[in-house]
Amino acid sequence: MSGILSAIKLREAGLDDFAVYEKADRLGGTWRENTYPGIACDVPSHLYSYSFAPNPEWSHRFSPGAEIQAYFEDVARRHGVDSLIQYGKEVTRCAFENGRWKIQMADGSTGAADFVIAATGVLHHPAYPAIEGLDTFEGPAFHSARWNHHVPLAGKRVGVIGTGSSAIQIVSALVDEVAELSLFQRTAQWIMPVENPAYSDEEKAGFRKHPEIMGRIRAAVSRAFTDGFSNHLVDASSPQLQAIHDACVANLENSVKDPDLRERLRPSYRAACKRLIMSDDFYDAIQRPNVKLVTEGIERIEKSGVRTRDGHLHELDALVLATGFRVDRFMRPMEVVGRNGTALEEVWKEGPFAYLAISIPDFPNLFMLNGPNGPVGNFSLIDVAELQFSYILQLIEPVRSGACREVSATWAAAERFDAERREAARTTIWQSGCKSWYLDAKGVPMAWPWTFDRFREEMSRPRLSDLEMR
Ligand code: NAP
Repeated sequence: MSGILSAIKLREAGLDDFAVYEKADRLGGTWRENTYPGIACDVPSHLYSYSFAPNPEWSHRFSPGAEIQAYFEDVARRHGVDSLIQYGKEVTRCAFENGRWKIQMADGSTGAADFVIAATGVLHHPAYPAIEGLDTFEGPAFHSARWNHHVPLAGKRVGVIGTGSSAIQIVSALVDEVAELSLFQRTAQWIMPVENPAYSDEEKAGFRKHPEIMGRIRAAVSRAFTDGFSNHLVDASSPQLQAIHDACVANLENSVKDPDLRERLRPSYRAACKRLIMSDDFYDAIQRPNVKLVTEGIERIEKSGVRTRDGHLHELDALVLATGFRVDRFMRPMEVVGRNGTALEEVWKEGPFAYLAISIPDFPNLFMLNGPNGPVGNFSLIDVAELQFSYILQLIEPVRSGACREVSATWAAAERFDAERREAARTTIWQSGCKSWYLDAKGVPMAWPWTFDRFREEMSRPRLSDLEMR
């Protein structure tokens, strides 16, 4: 998503001399790699679109994954950037040498550039659980982001480990098809009920005829999303978060009939501390007679199933690991070497960070889209990337005009930003008493801890005093 954006925007800015490297054989990132049953986006479709490419064809308020993948392919084609992407080019090393970035690919080819934009994604590398015996399971076992479509699940006994957004969508999608579904829950999740109406043919015809309607929907949804949700995540004491919590409690109380099941599904932390799950069918799915919620804890995996701590063996034909992602990777495992041989691994040894989520000191002319400390989890990552890209263009400009050759954040600015965001993170909902992928190894939320409006403001114009220009 952000690589396609970069290519389109670079061209628009008259910067035609660029290469786009993609390790896979197809574009699409998240939506190429996640093809599990039920996959959909929980950001409304007209907001989860590029601002410059509204899509009158969205079928629902929240789009299914395949539609989003087709949208990206279509946008790239219509803007003529699909043919510019070099596929099968996995970048293994980027090193800043003699004022330029030297790029090495896994296939032995090389490249060179004045600027590098890392559009490498966040939820990218699957996290496999360290459960004893995982490799002894005799049936098919695969991660939610590596769905094996050759495995027929109809009429089978299927286990799903995990209760994040991926697992919840998978359970709801599989329940009618499988013979038995066992959901292995380590931590319960709050579920926010959301309706997902289809757009009617008349509505779509209206969008086609008057595209400005989609612009208005985008602006309205963006404002509602910001004012009603994302701006409040950073203030755990806000009444809006309490209202969201109350709505989740009411959803649980009203939807789950069996008191025992209801209590096992009740989280012990506040709603939105973990990524809030949007679903209008999970509670229905989990109450089906062929579905079991397993909360006893996994002891180990054996050849025929999952053994829980109460000694019970849950026999399974197939196992789905909906166990999330290694969120501290960003552009790694790529080896990135900055000025004077500074290794990214060394600079990030305590965890990834970036000034305004974009620049790392001593890594001049290297900028990230959706890098560490950005507003991931708060908003549409497309909007985030668009704002970041307009900021990055402003960093490129002084080099382009000949005012300097290298631009990066100063160490002072990066350290100040890091200290301020750690301090601000203390009052966010993410630090209100749960574990989640939003937290770093020390339990500090990694995401942008201020409002989205502040992010928008910061991205509008670089603070020159925070930048080192050589
Ligand atoms: P996730 O939110 O990180 O959830 C991983 C799940 O696996 C958690 O329930 C976790 O339990 C469980 N788990 C991990 N290791 C385990 C182990 N060893 N034993 C038992 N359980 C284990 O991952 P995800 O569901 O793939 O979602 C990641 C993010 O992707 C979401 O937060 C969201 O930002 C995005 N996403 C969005 C959508 C959407 O738009 N609708 C859909 C899918 C994903 P604990 O909670 O106990 O750690």
